Amino acid sequence: MTVHFPFQNTYTALPANFFARVVPTPVASPKLIKLNRPLAVHLGLDPDRLESPEGAEILAGKRVPDGADPIAMAYAGHQFGHFVPQLGDGRAILLGEVIDADGIRRDIQLKGSGPTPFSRRGDGRAALGPVLREYVVSEAMAALGIPTTRSLAAVMTGESVLRETLLPGAVLTRVASSHIRVGTFQYFAARGDTDGVRRLADHVIARHYPQLANADRPYHALLSAVITRQAELVARWLLVGFIHGVMNTDNTSISGETIDYGPCAFMDHYDPATVFSSIDEQGRYAYGNQPRIALWNLTRLAECLLPLFSEAQEKAIEEAQTALGDFIETFDTAYQAGLRSKLGLFTAREEDRTLAQDLLDAMAKNQADFTLTFRRLSDAASDPAGDDLVRQLFADPTAYDEWAARWRQRTSEELQQPAARQTAMRAVNPAFIPRNHRVEAVIDAAVNRDDFAPFEELLAVLSRPYQDQAAFAAYAEPPEPHQRVLQTFC
Ligand code: AMP
Ligand code: MG
Ligand code: MG
Repeated sequence: MTVHFPFQNTYTALPANFFARVVPTPVASPKLIKLNRPLAVHLGLDPDRLESPEGAEILAGKRVPDGADPIAMAYAGHQFGHFVPQLGDGRAILLGEVIDADGIRRDIQLKGSGPTPFSRRGDGRAALGPVLREYVVSEAMAALGIPTTRSLAAVMTGESVLRETLLPGAVLTRVASSHIRVGTFQYFAARGDTDGVRRLADHVIARHYPQLANADRPYHALLSAVITRQAELVARWLLVGFIHGVMNTDNTSISGETIDYGPCAFMDHYDPATVFSSIDEQGRYAYGNQPRIALWNLTRLAECLLPLFSEAQEKAIEEAQTALGDFIETFDTAYQAGLRSKLGLFTAREEDRTLAQDLLDAMAKNQADFTLTFRRLSDAASDPAGDDLVRQLFADPTAYDEWAARWRQRTSEELQQPAARQTAMRAVNPAFIPRNHRVEAVIDAAVNRDDFAPFEELLAVLSRPYQDQAAFAAYAEPPEPHQRVLQTFC
């Protein structure tokens, strides 16, 4: 009984300098922590076989499945603003591509499966804590409906990895609609390899934007399409309080998925300056900076694509600038529409922008919890008695009262019934997000006590973020002051 992966690989058909063929490094004693069974089925994989000892060996990189053509992908990237011409998969290995039940091609990649030619000084390994964080947060994002890579499995390797201390090693199996990044384009552009840029752009259009293949100017259209997806993605992040933490160009996906969960976290009380990542000392990737950083990263993508534009240089730059100029409008449209939905507004008015911003400002001033404010507001929409629960979240509750009067006036001018408003709001304002103190507690239990029950429980709660789950109400609560975890490490 062998584990069958119906691989249909296309990336390995690209020129040899796009990747390095490499096999995972076998590990001592693979042990499956978690298999995402519904995702396995969606990918056309047999979950029972993946849970067998042979499956665990594959997911740990100890055994290469039939039909795999394992590679490490080449890419470059701006890390915290500084260009590195060669990064590449230093600890990830792409096993191959499968077509899922929706007909979408998906990469299946092992992360932490040993060194590659791109490892530089790294060991090619991953520690259990970050693997669990990526598993929990990426699956939570998927349940929230936000484009993201998925987690198919997590395994322990039975080996230790050396970080500040010795830590248990693990491998994450990550699924993405591709692992092509802005940095992948930069890799070829930095080498003056325009043919490489073109081959990559053609591959990306065929894979992610097939409707553009027959456009008048497919490469201009590609730039605009990536700009649109990234603008909409970052708007979604802001609307749930997500902070990626390492928005380097090598962590910016061309398909518009959230990718590379490192020291990411969700904000508790609303503050645009929030930073969790221990390595983000300047706050470059703070919550509120994310839109402008996405635009900065997309500007780097535009630079890579310029040589493919047919116009003379000056005109080509103008075209790229126009496309980049659309980012702000696309982001703003998505973000404002999202805020209106969070406020339960069915119609759009110019003054809604101020109404939403005034609530956010009051939240910032009063340390109000971002997620809970909107969730409780959803219930207050149908029953003003719920106002009490919202106002308690504000250091000075009267800051809410003044705003709530305006909100009620605005909603009363719409025809929808309060119950319909409540239902609509509850469908966009989650009760459950992966709060950082909960994620850290999961990691602590697994790493220090070999206890994965908290991991399982948190995953289960986060799989239904928009439903009240009375038995797990504590997971909706912000941390007590002594529970707050202010820094994340990767
Ligand atoms: P990241 O900050 O996770 O996006 O990673 C940036 C770069 O460092 C990528 O090229 C990774 O493949 C590489 N990298 C990160 N950790 C390791 C490691 N333990 N061993 C080898 N390469 C690594
Ligand atoms: Mg990365
Ligand atoms: Mg990473």
